[in-house]
Amino acid sequence: MIEFKDVSLVYPNGTEGLKQVNVHIQEGEFVVIVGLSGAGKSTLIRSINRLVTPTKGELIVDGDDVLQLNNKQLRTLRTKVGMIFQSYNLVRRSTVMKNVMAGRLGYTGTWKSIFHLFSNEDKRLAYENLQRVNIEDKLYNRADELSGGQQQRVSIARVLAQQPKVMLADEPVASLDPPTSHQVMKYLKQINEEDNITTIVNLHFIDMAMEYADRIIGMRDGEIVFDGPVSQVSEQT
Ligand code: ADP
Ligand code: ADP
Repeated sequence: MIEFKDVSLVYPNGTEGLKQVNVHIQEGEFVVIVGLSGAGKSTLIRSINRLVTPTKGELIVDGDDVLQLNNKQLRTLRTKVGMIFQSYNLVRRSTVMKNVMAGRLGYTGTWKSIFHLFSNEDKRLAYENLQRVNIEDKLYNRADELSGGQQQRVSIARVLAQQPKVMLADEPVASLDPPTSHQVMKYLKQINEEDNITTIVNLHFIDMAMEYADRIIGMRDGEIVFDGPVSQVSEQT
Protein backbone atom coordinates (compact mmCIF):
# COMPACT_ATOMS: atom_id res chain seq x y z
CA MET A 1 0.00 0.00 0.00
CA ILE A 2 2.84 2.38 0.92
CA GLU A 3 6.41 2.10 -0.25
CA PHE A 4 9.34 4.42 0.49
CA LYS A 5 12.37 3.74 -1.74
CA ASP A 6 15.52 5.59 -0.72
CA VAL A 7 13.44 8.61 0.26
CA SER A 8 15.31 11.67 1.54
CA LEU A 9 13.90 15.02 2.54
CA VAL A 10 16.01 18.11 3.08
CA TYR A 11 14.16 21.16 4.46
CA PRO A 12 14.92 24.56 2.86
CA ASN A 13 17.15 25.47 5.82
CA GLY A 14 19.30 22.39 5.16
CA THR A 15 17.94 20.14 7.93
CA GLU A 16 17.77 16.53 6.84
CA GLY A 17 14.30 15.34 7.85
CA LEU A 18 14.63 11.92 6.18
CA LYS A 19 17.82 10.15 5.09
CA GLN A 20 17.41 7.38 2.49
CA VAL A 21 14.39 5.81 4.13
CA ASN A 22 13.15 2.43 2.93
CA VAL A 23 9.83 1.16 4.25
CA HIS A 24 7.11 -1.06 2.84
CA ILE A 25 3.72 -1.04 4.55
CA GLN A 26 1.07 -3.57 3.53
CA GLU A 27 -2.65 -2.94 3.26
CA GLY A 28 -4.37 -3.22 6.63
CA GLU A 29 -1.27 -2.97 8.81
CA PHE A 30 -1.28 -1.02 12.08
CA VAL A 31 2.18 0.53 12.31
CA VAL A 32 3.45 2.72 15.12
CA ILE A 33 6.46 4.98 14.60
CA VAL A 34 8.45 5.80 17.70
CA GLY A 35 11.45 8.01 18.34
CA LEU A 36 12.56 11.10 20.19
CA SER A 37 11.41 14.55 19.26
CA GLY A 38 13.14 15.57 16.02
CA ALA A 39 13.72 11.97 14.87
CA GLY A 40 11.72 12.48 11.67
CA LYS A 41 8.47 10.73 12.58
CA SER A 42 6.28 13.61 11.54
CA THR A 43 8.25 14.19 8.35
CA LEU A 44 7.79 10.52 7.41
CA ILE A 45 4.04 10.58 8.03
CA ARG A 46 3.48 13.94 6.31
CA SER A 47 5.31 12.74 3.22
CA ILE A 48 2.60 10.11 2.67
CA ASN A 49 -0.10 12.69 1.89
CA ARG A 50 2.53 15.18 0.73
CA LEU A 51 2.05 17.82 3.36
CA VAL A 52 5.82 17.84 2.97
CA THR A 53 7.58 16.83 -0.23
CA PRO A 54 10.59 14.52 -0.24
CA THR A 55 13.53 15.83 -2.23
CA LYS A 56 14.85 12.45 -3.42
CA GLY A 57 13.73 8.88 -3.91
CA GLU A 58 10.42 7.27 -4.81
CA LEU A 59 7.23 7.12 -2.74
CA ILE A 60 4.31 4.95 -3.86
CA VAL A 61 0.91 5.20 -2.13
CA ASP A 62 -1.91 2.94 -3.34
CA GLY A 63 -0.23 2.61 -6.73
CA ASP A 64 0.41 6.35 -7.19
CA ASP A 65 3.85 7.88 -7.49
CA VAL A 66 3.32 10.56 -4.85
CA LEU A 67 6.20 12.77 -5.99
CA GLN A 68 4.81 13.04 -9.54
CA LEU A 69 1.19 14.02 -8.85
CA ASN A 70 -0.50 17.10 -10.32
CA ASN A 71 -2.83 19.18 -8.12
CA LYS A 72 -5.95 17.23 -9.03
CA GLN A 73 -4.25 13.90 -8.31
CA LEU A 74 -2.95 15.33 -5.05
CA ARG A 75 -6.50 16.12 -3.93
CA THR A 76 -7.52 12.54 -4.73
CA LEU A 77 -4.55 11.26 -2.72
CA ARG A 78 -5.59 13.36 0.27
CA THR A 79 -9.10 11.96 0.10
CA LYS A 80 -7.71 8.43 0.21
CA VAL A 81 -5.25 9.28 2.97
CA GLY A 82 -6.93 10.77 6.06
CA MET A 83 -4.96 12.57 8.73
CA ILE A 84 -5.39 13.01 12.48
CA PHE A 85 -3.36 15.67 14.31
CA GLN A 86 -2.17 16.23 17.86
CA SER A 87 -4.22 19.42 18.13
CA TYR A 88 -7.35 17.89 16.49
CA ASN A 89 -7.53 20.69 13.86
CA LEU A 90 -11.30 21.07 14.09
CA VAL A 91 -13.02 24.31 13.15
CA ARG A 92 -13.55 25.45 16.72
CA ARG A 93 -16.71 27.51 16.27
CA SER A 94 -18.39 25.05 13.95
CA THR A 95 -20.59 22.20 15.21
CA VAL A 96 -19.38 18.63 15.54
CA MET A 97 -21.66 17.51 12.69
CA LYS A 98 -20.40 20.24 10.33
CA ASN A 99 -16.80 19.47 11.17
CA VAL A 100 -17.31 15.84 10.23
CA MET A 101 -19.28 16.59 7.07
CA ALA A 102 -16.50 18.96 6.03
CA GLY A 103 -14.21 15.90 6.04
CA ARG A 104 -16.29 14.63 3.11
CA LEU A 105 -15.43 17.69 1.07
CA GLY A 106 -11.69 17.36 1.46
CA TYR A 107 -9.37 20.22 0.73
CA THR A 108 -11.59 21.77 -1.92
CA GLY A 109 -14.65 21.98 0.23
CA THR A 110 -14.27 25.18 2.22
CA TRP A 111 -16.70 27.23 0.16
CA LYS A 112 -19.21 24.37 0.04
CA SER A 113 -19.22 24.09 3.79
CA ILE A 114 -19.76 27.85 4.10
CA PHE A 115 -22.91 27.49 2.02
CA HIS A 116 -23.94 24.24 3.77
CA LEU A 117 -23.96 22.27 0.55
CA PHE A 118 -24.01 18.87 2.14
CA SER A 119 -25.76 15.90 0.56
CA ASN A 120 -27.82 13.32 2.43
CA GLU A 121 -24.91 10.94 1.88
CA ASP A 122 -22.56 13.43 3.62
CA LYS A 123 -24.98 13.62 6.54
CA ARG A 124 -25.45 9.87 6.78
CA LEU A 125 -21.72 9.14 6.74
CA ALA A 126 -21.02 11.88 9.28
CA TYR A 127 -23.66 10.60 11.68
CA GLU A 128 -22.71 6.92 11.31
CA ASN A 129 -19.07 7.64 11.99
CA LEU A 130 -19.82 9.84 14.98
CA GLN A 131 -21.74 6.85 16.35
CA ARG A 132 -18.72 4.61 15.82
CA VAL A 133 -16.64 6.74 18.17
CA ASN A 134 -19.60 7.24 20.56
CA ILE A 135 -19.82 10.99 20.26
CA GLU A 136 -23.11 11.33 18.34
CA ASP A 137 -24.74 12.87 21.43
CA LYS A 138 -22.53 15.98 20.86
CA LEU A 139 -23.74 16.45 17.28
CA TYR A 140 -24.90 20.04 17.73
CA ASN A 141 -22.19 21.13 20.16
CA ARG A 142 -19.53 23.48 18.96
CA ALA A 143 -16.16 21.73 18.65
CA ASP A 144 -14.62 24.01 21.27
CA GLU A 145 -17.21 22.91 23.84
CA LEU A 146 -15.74 19.40 23.90
CA SER A 147 -12.91 17.93 25.93
CA GLY A 148 -9.66 17.00 24.18
CA GLY A 149 -10.56 13.32 24.04
CA GLN A 150 -13.93 14.11 22.58
CA GLN A 151 -12.43 16.45 19.98
CA GLN A 152 -9.97 13.77 18.92
CA ARG A 153 -12.85 11.30 18.51
CA VAL A 154 -14.64 13.86 16.31
CA SER A 155 -11.48 14.19 14.23
CA ILE A 156 -11.40 10.39 13.83
CA ALA A 157 -15.04 10.48 12.68
CA ARG A 158 -14.14 13.26 10.22
CA VAL A 159 -11.43 11.08 8.68
CA LEU A 160 -13.73 8.03 8.56
CA ALA A 161 -16.46 10.03 6.83
CA GLN A 162 -14.11 10.56 3.90
CA GLN A 163 -13.86 6.74 3.60
CA PRO A 164 -10.06 6.60 3.43
CA LYS A 165 -7.82 3.66 2.57
CA VAL A 166 -5.05 4.98 4.79
CA MET A 167 -5.25 6.76 8.13
CA LEU A 168 -2.29 8.76 9.40
CA ALA A 169 -2.15 9.96 12.99
CA ASP A 170 0.58 12.41 13.96
CA GLU A 171 0.99 12.27 17.77
CA PRO A 172 -2.78 11.82 18.22
CA VAL A 173 -2.59 11.38 21.99
CA ALA A 174 0.24 13.76 22.90
CA SER A 175 -2.18 16.33 24.35
CA LEU A 176 -4.32 13.81 26.25
CA ASP A 177 -4.10 12.25 29.70
CA PRO A 178 -3.29 8.50 29.93
CA PRO A 179 -6.85 7.10 30.23
CA THR A 180 -8.08 9.30 27.37
CA SER A 181 -5.01 8.35 25.31
CA HIS A 182 -5.84 4.66 25.69
CA GLN A 183 -9.43 5.31 24.72
CA VAL A 184 -8.34 7.06 21.50
CA MET A 185 -5.78 4.35 20.68
CA LYS A 186 -8.45 1.67 21.17
CA TYR A 187 -10.73 3.40 18.67
CA LEU A 188 -7.90 3.65 16.13
CA LYS A 189 -7.05 -0.03 16.59
CA GLN A 190 -10.69 -1.14 16.43
CA ILE A 191 -11.29 0.82 13.22
CA ASN A 192 -8.12 -0.59 11.68
CA GLU A 193 -9.35 -4.11 12.40
CA GLU A 194 -12.96 -3.62 11.35
CA ASP A 195 -12.37 -1.60 8.17
CA ASN A 196 -8.89 -2.87 7.21
CA ILE A 197 -7.72 0.75 6.93
CA THR A 198 -3.93 0.88 6.77
CA THR A 199 -3.00 2.90 9.87
CA ILE A 200 0.23 4.67 10.77
CA VAL A 201 0.54 6.38 14.13
CA ASN A 202 3.38 8.45 15.59
CA LEU A 203 3.84 8.08 19.32
CA HIS A 204 6.27 9.37 21.91
CA PHE A 205 5.98 6.45 24.25
CA ILE A 206 7.24 2.96 23.47
CA ASP A 207 4.99 1.29 26.07
CA MET A 208 1.87 2.68 24.39
CA ALA A 209 3.28 1.61 21.00
CA MET A 210 3.90 -1.94 22.27
CA GLU A 211 0.35 -2.23 23.50
CA TYR A 212 -1.34 -1.38 20.20
CA ALA A 213 1.05 -1.87 17.28
CA ASP A 214 1.40 -4.92 15.03
CA ARG A 215 4.68 -3.50 13.87
CA ILE A 216 6.99 -0.84 15.26
CA ILE A 217 9.29 1.44 13.30
CA GLY A 218 11.94 3.21 15.35
CA MET A 219 13.48 6.43 14.03
CA ARG A 220 16.53 8.47 14.98
CA ASP A 221 18.06 11.45 13.16
CA GLY A 222 15.93 10.92 10.03
CA GLU A 223 16.81 7.26 9.76
CA ILE A 224 15.00 4.03 10.48
CA VAL A 225 16.86 2.24 13.26
CA PHE A 226 14.33 -0.49 13.97
CA ASP A 227 11.54 -2.09 11.96
CA GLY A 228 9.83 -5.22 13.17
CA PRO A 229 7.03 -6.87 15.11
CA VAL A 230 6.39 -5.95 18.74
CA SER A 231 7.82 -9.32 19.88
CA GLN A 232 11.25 -8.32 18.56
CA VAL A 233 11.24 -5.08 20.55
CA SER A 234 10.66 -7.07 23.74
CA GLU A 235 13.65 -9.28 22.99
CA GLN A 236 15.92 -6.28 22.55
CA THR A 237 14.92 -4.42 25.70
P1 ADP B 1 9.54 14.22 14.95
O1 ADP B 1 8.19 14.15 14.36
O2 ADP B 1 10.16 12.87 15.17
O3 ADP B 1 9.60 15.07 16.20
P2 ADP B 1 10.16 15.90 12.69
O4 ADP B 1 9.85 15.09 11.51
O5 ADP B 1 9.17 16.93 13.13
O6 ADP B 1 10.51 14.93 13.90
O7 ADP B 1 11.55 16.66 12.47
C1 ADP B 1 12.69 16.03 11.92
C2 ADP B 1 13.79 17.06 11.77
O8 ADP B 1 13.41 18.02 10.79
C3 ADP B 1 14.07 17.85 13.04
O9 ADP B 1 15.43 18.15 13.09
C4 ADP B 1 13.24 19.10 12.84
O10 ADP B 1 13.79 20.18 13.57
C5 ADP B 1 13.36 19.32 11.35
N1 ADP B 1 12.20 20.03 10.78
C6 ADP B 1 10.90 19.68 10.85
N2 ADP B 1 10.12 20.53 10.17
C7 ADP B 1 10.95 21.46 9.65
C8 ADP B 1 10.78 22.61 8.83
N3 ADP B 1 9.57 22.98 8.39
N4 ADP B 1 11.87 23.32 8.48
C9 ADP B 1 13.09 22.95 8.89
N5 ADP B 1 13.33 21.87 9.65
C10 ADP B 1 12.28 21.13 10.03
P1 ADP C 1 -14.17 12.20 27.56
O1 ADP C 1 -13.29 11.38 28.44
O2 ADP C 1 -15.53 11.59 27.35
O3 ADP C 1 -13.53 12.61 26.28
P2 ADP C 1 -13.86 14.15 29.65
O4 ADP C 1 -14.03 13.16 30.77
O5 ADP C 1 -12.53 14.69 29.37
O6 ADP C 1 -14.48 13.56 28.30
O7 ADP C 1 -14.86 15.35 29.90
C1 ADP C 1 -16.06 15.18 30.65
C2 ADP C 1 -17.04 16.31 30.33
O8 ADP C 1 -16.45 17.57 30.62
C3 ADP C 1 -17.41 16.32 28.88
O9 ADP C 1 -18.82 16.30 28.78
C4 ADP C 1 -16.86 17.59 28.30
O10 ADP C 1 -17.82 18.22 27.49
C5 ADP C 1 -16.54 18.45 29.50
N1 ADP C 1 -15.23 19.09 29.32
C6 ADP C 1 -14.01 18.58 29.61
N2 ADP C 1 -13.03 19.42 29.30
C7 ADP C 1 -13.62 20.52 28.80
C8 ADP C 1 -13.14 21.76 28.29
N3 ADP C 1 -11.84 22.06 28.22
N4 ADP C 1 -14.04 22.65 27.84
C9 ADP C 1 -15.35 22.35 27.88
N5 ADP C 1 -15.87 21.22 28.35
C10 ADP C 1 -15.03 20.31 28.80
